[in-house]
Amino acid sequence: MTTWTYQQWREYCEQLSIESRAFINGQYCDASLGLRFDCINPANNQLLCQIAECDSIDADAAVNAARDSFELGHWRTMAPKKRKQVLLKLADLVDQNATELAALETLDMGKPISESFNVDIPGSADVIRWHAEAIDKVYDEVAPTQDDVVAMITREPIGVVAAITPWNFPLWLACWKIAPALATGNSVVLKPSEKASLTSIKLAELAQQAGIPDGVLNVLPGFGHKVGKALALHNDVDALVFTGSTATAKQLLIYAGESNMKRVWLEAGGKNPNIVFADADLDKAAQAAASGCFYNQGEVCVAATRLLVESSIYDSFVAKVIEASKRFRPGDPLDPSTNMGALVDQAHQCGVLDKIATAKVSGAHLALGGNAALCTETGAFVEPTIFTEVDNAMAIARQEVFGPVMSVIRFENEQHAIQIANDSDYGLGAAVWTASLKRAHTMAKKLRAGSVWINNYNDGDMTVPFGGFKQSGNGRDKSLHALDKYTEVKTTWIDLS
Ligand code: ADP
Repeated sequence: MTTWTYQQWREYCEQLSIESRAFINGQYCDASLGLRFDCINPANNQLLCQIAECDSIDADAAVNAARDSFELGHWRTMAPKKRKQVLLKLADLVDQNATELAALETLDMGKPISESFNVDIPGSADVIRWHAEAIDKVYDEVAPTQDDVVAMITREPIGVVAAITPWNFPLWLACWKIAPALATGNSVVLKPSEKASLTSIKLAELAQQAGIPDGVLNVLPGFGHKVGKALALHNDVDALVFTGSTATAKQLLIYAGESNMKRVWLEAGGKNPNIVFADADLDKAAQAAASGCFYNQGEVCVAATRLLVESSIYDSFVAKVIEASKRFRPGDPLDPSTNMGALVDQAHQCGVLDKIATAKVSGAHLALGGNAALCTETGAFVEPTIFTEVDNAMAIARQEVFGPVMSVIRFENEQHAIQIANDSDYGLGAAVWTASLKRAHTMAKKLRAGSVWINNYNDGDMTVPFGGFKQSGNGRDKSLHALDKYTEVKTTWIDLS
């Protein structure tokens, strides 16, 4: 728990010295062309630092370093139990540097410091630790062949993995990718979002301190359409793993097709249905509906953005949700009592406000919020916003807003709820609230989503996979299923006759 006061966090942040260079082959370095881009604190629109703006030349350098380290094999051939020890040390270093990492995360992308410090950073350490602990416990297979044959089915690291990551949980989601990639012996080039690069840059230093060999983890800050694209088109990248928007995800598939058919694993958008039946524990469901939608300013791919409510309880339940949502109050992210921070930047704030304006015009009823929140004169804050009487055909029910906006939709029965829930391009998460075991199972089977939660929203831990159906992506992060993305399966057929 953060025991620091608002004042202490502010003083700490004022004296923080921020590393903002790329990390290639074991060294921090400027971008090859010397370019830098502004890193702005979205809570006050002030310049934090200027970050190295990498491009295709840096991508070549980082991929070459990754390839060389992979061929050299120090990391790839290291005994799993030794790789485990290095990664456990990295997890410990993340914990030991939690204050700095949490401050960087909050300054960079606006989330509340209490969440950076208590959730994101320990969560990141937990991901690294879990994959480290797993990796010396995974066995290969011997196939049940005829007697004069031994057929081994083994998993090998895939080679050079490029990870392109988002800004909403910057370090945590980067760890979802790099922890299993490193645990399985790959070399990695991490391209964090240009909107939140600082913790990924810092992680490189900690990885080196932990004993990750030079070239095995490289970090390239910069823009998606430049260095991100260069990695996605690179002929020496074996796998591309991504979390971000569906539009970019589709582009990455094209880049892979245009280059070396690298494996592409995508975790993209969501428009997740949270379905509440009249027989549910409505107080608990209302609290979860609010936090499922407004946690992290709604900047969550799996946010509960479509609340489907059974007609018989519609008005009373909506009233409960509005009440529960009022506890989310935008405030200065560095204040430990703040539970809703700034959106990632002013451009995104404008985009969210535009979508709210469109929803009003389309006939949805604005029941809460709807405006920029004036916490600071220039900060990118938006009030928690709820639209009721939303039709699932409206843009506000179909497009990902990635901000604090909930659409409440009415349904008449189970079949109707399923029809609305599945009527979406996305299929990331879904929840059902009911006291009926039969209904819970029936609904869970019919929902087209990678995760279904019954009587909770977005609970889980490292033991369960996470990812999407349909245009929410492919492949899974977390759990042993994540290892599929970072390994090739090899059959070795040995004739003993
Ligand atoms: P958002 O719109 O929420 O920022 P994006 O999908 O644009 O989501 O960003 C997620 C990640 O994808 C970021 O690291 C970004 O730099 C990267 N990215 C964006 N466009 C491209 C692209 N054309 N090629 C490769 N990476 C990209």
